[in-house]
Parts: sequence; structure tokens; C-alpha cells
Amino acid sequence: MKKCLPKMYKKSIFDIPYQNLKESGIKCLAFDLDNTIALIDQEKVDEKTIDFIKKLKQDFIITIISNNYQNRVLSYAKLFDCDYVSFALKPSTKGLRKMRKKYHLTNKEIAIIGDQLMTDILGGNRAKAYTILVDPLGVKDLKITSFNRFIEKYVLKNFAKKKLLIKGVYYEKNR
Ligand SMILES: [Mg+2]
Repeated sequence: MKKCLPKMYKKSIFDIPYQNLKESGIKCLAFDLDNTIALIDQEKVDEKTIDFIKKLKQDFIITIISNNYQNRVLSYAKLFDCDYVSFALKPSTKGLRKMRKKYHLTNKEIAIIGDQLMTDILGGNRAKAYTILVDPLGVKDLKITSFNRFIEKYVLKNFAKKKLLIKGVYYEKNR
């Protein structure tokens, strides 16, 4: 279960201390798409998000690693002019491995940012990347996600009991 515990937990992608990540040696940010960057039924994101992600490109390699299908992920990758992996099957580490190879990175140089413990965080931890949990943007999930959320609820209960992770209590840990 510890494999599902993120190294950092913040409210949203806008609350992450990117400067700290850069200083600790992170070179690549691998964002989840649905409920991390955009709502699942949202076709486009607002200018604020586009500008924000584009700005991060000055300091990091930006990629979107999503379990969603190619058309949806590609349309966002185009908006941000960034790389992507669709149908990544997280918690498989396939997407992260692909990016690691492509950009000659080590696991420690990648931070994965996502809203789900059972896919984003578990996959990131398995790949030994730095893992950052954010609160989901919306309450609506993809159908395939409902089972993961069911398990997640149980894991969160356990984490809360052990005071490891409590929803709404944000934290960051050094690498
Ligand atoms: Mg998500």
C-alpha cells in the first residue's frame, strides 16, 4: 500500500513548488490529463492553464501521460506544444519508461503529477519517479476509473488512520 503514497500532495497543478523541483534535479514533468489538467468532459482548457504549462517548458521537459485515447490526449499535447503518451495503462510504467529513454533521463529526474493513487502515483512510485498527487478537478470520472476510485477510498482511509495522507492536508517531502 505504501507504493500508493505520493511524495508530495498539493491542491492543484498551480500549487506545486516547481522551483524546488528544479533545484532538486527534476528535469521532466509528466502530467496526467483527466481531472489533473482538464475535466474529463472538457474539450479545451482555459488560457490560464495553457500559459502556465507553456511557461513551465522553460524549465522542464513537459509530457502528458494519460490512459485516455490518442485523439483526446493529442489535442491537449497540441495546445501545450508538448510530448505525450496516450493509452499508457497506468499503473504500468510504460509511459514513463518511454519518456526516460527518449530524453535520456533517470527515474529520479522525472516527476509524475496526477489525481489518482491507483494509477498515477502507484505507477510513478513503481518507476521510482517523484510522485505528486493533486486533488481531482471534478467529481466526474471516466467509467474505467470508478473501480480505481473504489480501491482508492479504502487506501485513503488506511492512510488517514496512519496519518500518512489526509485529504486536504497538503505536504511535500524532500527527495
Ligand atoms: Mg486523472
